[in-house]
Amino acid sequence: MMVVENKPQSLVDLYDLSPCALSVSGRFIHRIREMVAADEDAFPFVYGLGHEKRRLVEVLAAGSGVLIKGNFGVGKTHLCNAVFSVLQGYYQTNPVYTNEGCPVRENAIHLYNYLVEADQSALDNVCPMCRHKYASQKAESVPIERVYLTEGGGFARIQGNEDIEPQMILGMYHLIRFAEIGDPFDPRVLEGGKIAQASGGVLFVDELGLMNNEAQYALIQALQERRFSPSNSRMTFPVDLLFVSTTNNINDFRIHKAVANRLVGLLVDRVGLREEMLIVKKELVKNGFNLRFPELFLEFIITTIRELNNIAVYLGPRSSIRAARIAAASAFVEGRFTVSYCDVKEGLHTEITGQGDEETFDEINAMLAKDFPSIVDFIKQRVPAIENAYVVIDNFRDAETAFLNMDMLLIDEIMAYLVDDDRRPETIKAYLDAYAVACGL
Ligand SMILES: [Zn+2]
Repeated sequence: MMVVENKPQSLVDLYDLSPCALSVSGRFIHRIREMVAADEDAFPFVYGLGHEKRRLVEVLAAGSGVLIKGNFGVGKTHLCNAVFSVLQGYYQTNPVYTNEGCPVRENAIHLYNYLVEADQSALDNVCPMCRHKYASQKAESVPIERVYLTEGGGFARIQGNEDIEPQMILGMYHLIRFAEIGDPFDPRVLEGGKIAQASGGVLFVDELGLMNNEAQYALIQALQERRFSPSNSRMTFPVDLLFVSTTNNINDFRIHKAVANRLVGLLVDRVGLREEMLIVKKELVKNGFNLRFPELFLEFIITTIRELNNIAVYLGPRSSIRAARIAAASAFVEGRFTVSYCDVKEGLHTEITGQGDEETFDEINAMLAKDFPSIVDFIKQRVPAIENAYVVIDNFRDAETAFLNMDMLLIDEIMAYLVDDDRRPETIKAYLDAYAVACGL
């Protein structure tokens, strides 16, 4: 049997490996096209942002940085993470090579062009570390390695806050360690920052406006010039990456004008009711309660959160998710398999009052007393036939016995208004119960 030797590859082999010559934005759009052709969704689990997703792709493919603007919980972070997944997919299916140990994962093609093709200008795209290590070597003795993106190696995330210093972004040259060690290229002397970590991939800044001006500048200069110098150093490194940042509408004004001017803003609105329902359903599955959540109750939670938003407090999609989870937990704790209206009301009240503080507490309670929608009207609007059940319910005073004494025709009539999943006795009883009792909470 023949043993295939797994010999490390060197720069001289590069063109036998059909390496990628695209920029990072080119890799991104290439992968998007591959996915479109294979009928794959580039942004699964990002519901209802069709237009925004498309624009995000276009802006990044055009080589610009993006600033995604929107309220809390509208899915900004999801979008950013999806960008990384797309790019990661490119590296899995397309070979990209770098010189071994390159701190910015620069394309090995540049050093190849310099060493093999004698193209002097190619050296501009080779970082100081690789120049120091490899520029006077022969191509066959320069080891190369294939690039795959991982967190910290082609993906870096910065959570914006006041205390972030430029050297965290740019990296840092330790003068004292240099004095001790003597080699300016020793990795202990030159410490990489977020830009070096993200090079070749995605740099994601959550809440750009919360960073101080110096830190904002440090980022932009690097993105604009596609080069950066670590603090305390005159060495400049080439960098190629996708830049995606977010800001909440309330922090938008904190973004420095010069910075905002260099990014393309993308406004992301709250998704529609249907999409918000899909998001909440997906989150509910994660609870693992395995409960039946009647569709109309779920819709009631989401429409209520949306209706009551910004009366006394901000109630975003995360409030819908939490209210539904609390309702599910309430049923689970009591060992019931179907969420009842009492659970729903419990979830909504707990979440909404939970968003207040000492100052807004009275205002929230006043709002709940005055503006909380009626479940009776809500159900009547969606299932008009339930009104015909009123007499039966009135006779029996509880949904269980009322249901047992109801005419099959009436049950069929009610069922005609329900989605498939809701067409079962437990759900109909839950609706009858909500309709009749409306929960005296
Ligand atoms: Zn390098």
